[in-house]
Amino acid sequence: MSIKVFNLTKQYGQQKAVDQVSFSVNEGEIVGFLGPNGAGKSTTMKIITGFLPPTEGTVEVEGESVIDNPMSVKRKTGYLPEHNPLYLDMYVHEYLNFMAGIYGLASSVRKERVFEMVRLCGLTDEQNKRIGMLSKGFRQRVGLAQALIHNPKVLVLDEPTSGLDPNQLIEIRRLIKTVSKDKTVLFSTHILQEVEALCDRVVVINKGRIVADDRLGNLLQGAGNHLVVEFANEISAQDLMQLEDVEHARQLENFRFQLKVVKGKDIRPLLVRFAVEKNLSLIELKQEENSLESVFSQLTATEKK
Ligand code: ADP
Repeated sequence: MSIKVFNLTKQYGQQKAVDQVSFSVNEGEIVGFLGPNGAGKSTTMKIITGFLPPTEGTVEVEGESVIDNPMSVKRKTGYLPEHNPLYLDMYVHEYLNFMAGIYGLASSVRKERVFEMVRLCGLTDEQNKRIGMLSKGFRQRVGLAQALIHNPKVLVLDEPTSGLDPNQLIEIRRLIKTVSKDKTVLFSTHILQEVEALCDRVVVINKGRIVADDRLGNLLQGAGNHLVVEFANEISAQDLMQLEDVEHARQLENFRFQLKVVKGKDIRPLLVRFAVEKNLSLIELKQEENSLESVFSQLTATEKK
C-alpha cells in the first residue's frame, strides 16, 4: 500500500471538512479523487502531504506515518497544491534549482536533475524566463516539475488542470500520464473526463465523506440503468414510481422524467402499454447510457451529512 488513509477527520472550528475518511492507493496506481467543490479534497491532500495536521485519524505514505515523520514523508512525496503557488519573480531553472535544494538534493546532482525535469516537462524554451511571464499551462508544467524534482515515489496533485484552456488541458493530462509511469498518483479533480482519461480507480468524496471507492467500470455498471420518458399529458413522478422495476423517478421538466430501473430489466414495452392504458401520448422513450456524470450526480446528490 503506497498511501493509506484511515479514519481521517479534520475539523475547522465547528465545521467537519473531512469526516472519518478511509481509503488507500496501491503502488503504481493512478487514483482520481473526485468530488464537488468544498467536498474536502484539498484538506485531505494537505493532510496526506504533511502540510496540515488531522484532527483525528492516521495517514501512512510508503509505510511511514505522516504525523510522526512529516519530513521523511515529504521526501517521498511530490505535491502540486491547488492554485500552484510559485515565486513569480524567479526564473524557471532558478526556481527548480531552489526547490531541488529544499528537497536536499546534493549540489553536484542538482543541475542535471533540473535539466532532466525541464526536458521531461516540456520547459526547454521557457527555462530562462521569469515564472511570472509564463502562461497558465506552462506554470502548471513548472508546478509538476517541482513536484517531481526529488524523484518521489508518490505524487499528490490537487486539481492539476484547473483553469487551463482545452489545448493546455490535453497537454498537461498527457504529461501527467507520462510522468506517472513508475509512480503512485492521487489527483483531485471535478472534471469527469479527466478521470476517464487517466485513472485506474476513483474515490468519490461528498460533504467530507467517502461515497464511492471503485474501479471506473464497476461504478458505471453498478449504477443501474436509466430511461428518459416524456409524455404529452400530465403525469407525476409518483405515478411512474408505481410501475414494476422502477426504482426511482425524477422529473426533468414538465412531463419528462428520468427513471432508474432495476439492473438488467427493460421496461420499455411496459411503458408503452402503460401509456395506452392511461390514454397518454408517449413522445420520447430512450435508454440512457450510464455516464460518469450520472453516477457522480447520484452519488453526490443522495448522500446527506
Ligand atoms: P475541496 O478541495 O473539495 O473543494 P476543501 O478541502 O478545500 O474542499 O474544503 C472543504 C470544506 O472546508 C469547505 O467547506 C471549505 O470552506 C472548508 N475549509 C477549507 N479550508 C478551511 C480553513 N482553513 N478554514 C475553515 N474552513 C476551511
